[in-house]
Amino acid sequence: MGTLARKLVGVDAEKLIEMLNKALADEWLAYYQYWTGAKVAAGPMRGAVTVELEEHAAEELMHAEMLVERILTLGGTPLLSPKDWFEMTNCGYETPEDPYVGVLLEQNIEGEQCAIRAYKDLMDFTEGKDAVTYELALEIMTDEIEHEEDLQALQEDMSLMKARQ
Ligand code: FE
Ligand code: FE
Ligand code: MG
Repeated sequence: MGTLARKLVGVDAEKLIEMLNKALADEWLAYYQYWTGAKVAAGPMRGAVTVELEEHAAEELMHAEMLVERILTLGGTPLLSPKDWFEMTNCGYETPEDPYVGVLLEQNIEGEQCAIRAYKDLMDFTEGKDAVTYELALEIMTDEIEHEEDLQALQEDMSLMKARQ
C-alpha cells in the first residue's frame, strides 16, 4: 500500500476503492464481450468489425490493469473472483447470442456509453481531491469515447453500403 498516497486522497478511500472495483468488473466483462464477439461475428464487413472488436478487447484489458494498480496503491483488494464481476458491474454484460455484426455493434456501443458515464462519475467524485485517480479516469474515459466513435463509424459505413446497393 502507498501509505502517503492513500493519505493524500481527499475523498473516502473505501468508497473510491469500491468505485474502482466496480469499474474493474466492467472492464473484464467488456473485455470478454469484445473478445467473444470478435470470435462469433458474422455479416457484412466482418473483417473490419472483428479487427476493431479485438483491438478494443485488448484496450479493455489494459484498463483493467490500470485500475488494479490504483486499487493496490490505495491499499484496496482488487476483485479476486469472476463471480464478483456480475455483482459489482455498472454496465453489465450483453451476451452476443445473435452474431450479426449490426447487433454486436449496438450492444458494444451501449456498453461504451455506460463506461463513459461511469468514468465521468469517477472524475466528478475525485475532481480537486485526488488528482491521480482523476487523471486515470480521464485517460480511460478518453479511450472509451474513442471506442464509441470507432463503433459508430462502422455502423455508418454499413448504412452507407446498404444505401448504395
Ligand atoms: Fe475500458
Ligand atoms: Fe471501451
Ligand atoms: Mg478502436
